[in-house]
Amino acid sequence: MVSALKTFAKKALWALKIPYLPEAIRAVVKGPYTVDFPFGDTVDTGAYRGAPVWDEDVCIGCGACYEVCPAHAIEMVDDTDSDPPMRRFKLRYDQCIFCGHCHYNCTTDDGICQTTDWDLATYDRTQSFTTVEKELLLCDCCGGVISTKDHVRWVARKAGPKAYANPGLALTLEGDLINAPQPTRKPRPRGDRASIMRLLCPHCRRVVIFDEIA
Ligand code: SF4
Ligand code: SF4
Repeated sequence: MVSALKTFAKKALWALKIPYLPEAIRAVVKGPYTVDFPFGDTVDTGAYRGAPVWDEDVCIGCGACYEVCPAHAIEMVDDTDSDPPMRRFKLRYDQCIFCGHCHYNCTTDDGICQTTDWDLATYDRTQSFTTVEKELLLCDCCGGVISTKDHVRWVARKAGPKAYANPGLALTLEGDLINAPQPTRKPRPRGDRASIMRLLCPHCRRVVIFDEIA
């Protein structure tokens, strides 16, 4: 009987919202915990996951961020018809889930960085994006895409002296990459021994080396 009375009293207290009273009084004195978004100031804890942004000087255009994005928010297009040929990236914020994988897996660590800028509301979602573009390096034989120039330079510098084991990287270190005429429009055929010392895509390099050995 006593326990039944206790249970009834407890339920009555919760029904009358009595346990909430201290919180209600505190809210009256201190003001509400919520903010009048989007009109009031929000509290920046510094821990928000917000919009990722590219750093054009640090990004090398390798495409790793495009590969790992789980929401397919990053587009990558190789435009070999433009002059010079370009690799263009577009990150759509209306599709981004702010997971941070692009930043976490960036080849250069900070080519793309996740900011705490989370308030990206807009009336026109087609304008909610950011872009970066990098010049492409094309195969001297077939005109196919090798990668971006910045990417190949980055790999060559990273490899250091070991880059001289690879003709393409060796040419890059020697500065030929920077000065070489862009072979986009007129790819030259493979065929002679000298082709080994040209900037080639993996397929053409394999064929040239195979022809040489054969
Ligand atoms: S350097 Fe980083 S940001 Fe640039 S394309 Fe590669 S992974 Fe993406
Ligand atoms: S934060 Fe996540 S969803 Fe957004 S672009 Fe980067 S990888 Fe894609």
